Amino acid sequence: MRIANVETFVVEQRLQRPFFFSQWKYDRRAVCLVRVTADDGTYGWGEGYGPAQVVEAGVHFLAPLILGKDPLHQAALWQKMYRRSLDYARRGILVAAISAIDIALWDLKGKLLGQPVSILLGGRRRDHARVYATGMYFTEGPDLPQRLAAEAAMYVRQGFTAVKMKVGLGIEQDIENVRAVREAIGPDVKLMVDANHAYTLWEALALARALEPLDIGWFEEPVSPEDYEGYAELRRRTGIPIAGGECEYLCAGFRRLFERRCVDIAQPDICAAGGLTEVARIVALARAFETNLTPHCWGTGIAFAAALHLASTLDVLPGRMLAPEPLLEMDRSENPLRDELTVPRFEVRDGLVAVPTAPGLGVDVDIDVLRRFTAQRDD
Ligand code: CA
Repeated sequence: MRIANVETFVVEQRLQRPFFFSQWKYDRRAVCLVRVTADDGTYGWGEGYGPAQVVEAGVHFLAPLILGKDPLHQAALWQKMYRRSLDYARRGILVAAISAIDIALWDLKGKLLGQPVSILLGGRRRDHARVYATGMYFTEGPDLPQRLAAEAAMYVRQGFTAVKMKVGLGIEQDIENVRAVREAIGPDVKLMVDANHAYTLWEALALARALEPLDIGWFEEPVSPEDYEGYAELRRRTGIPIAGGECEYLCAGFRRLFERRCVDIAQPDICAAGGLTEVARIVALARAFETNLTPHCWGTGIAFAAALHLASTLDVLPGRMLAPEPLLEMDRSENPLRDELTVPRFEVRDGLVAVPTAPGLGVDVDIDVLRRFTAQRDD
């Protein structure tokens, strides 16, 4: 069995309603997909997280290294790509390109062996993953706290038992927003907040202190991803669990996060941090540091399927009979690519999503939809 083809597809879609977070505004969603095809015609899909055209260039740079090779040896191919990129890209978009190819190789391997990725990863601890709704981004206009509260209440009506909202607009506005959301969803729904590294340590500490009475599940990316000491200091000084890691890459990056005791919950993005091959190693590393992990996930159904398979295998540390299930991110912000590109669709029932059992990732790309989104690139 040989790898016959590595193709990229940059798909893009304008949003009906632009939204923003603490760093910038989104008026479109774009992603680079990868399809790796074996010489018998079997193919696997992958996806990179990051600027789509840059990820695409990275995939084209790496593809010659794996063409003609046996796709079943995905960790050996990973090593080849890693060594070819290490001199210039110990973290960043080339690692995202490796990730995209690696995910496609896992999908392909699963199809070739007739097993779902969860089985290749070691087997499922659960057949359904508990998901949380990521939403409550900022939009222009009056009554933001009321609109965020209404959105959160909608997710609860849809069956979500946990939701995550954005903070990072400014401490006073954040407090008003979080209070409104907590009031709307009541005390029983889990609520997390995400600043996307908007704050200094002292600002983050002030916000954390103000939010402590509101029962916050975790405070995500409170400070700069480069400020490891800030993370650790904040974590020592607040009772709210600290989460982060979506800007971190590879085992070596997560080792820095773990050694300095920065986070309670590590959040590698499978489409950026090194693919399933490397994130499985990061899971083992997290375990050695007694740190829980749940993947960051903000892409199409391919990214979500990869995260679902991984989440189905995760332990909650330290473990006990009635330990809560790990929570998997399910982005609910406007994204036609995520909603329409892959089949079958994922359904949320009682806050749970079924882990696919078909071989590979268990999702396929609808080629007609792919063509439609690709055609709209330059509109
Ligand atoms: Ca985040």
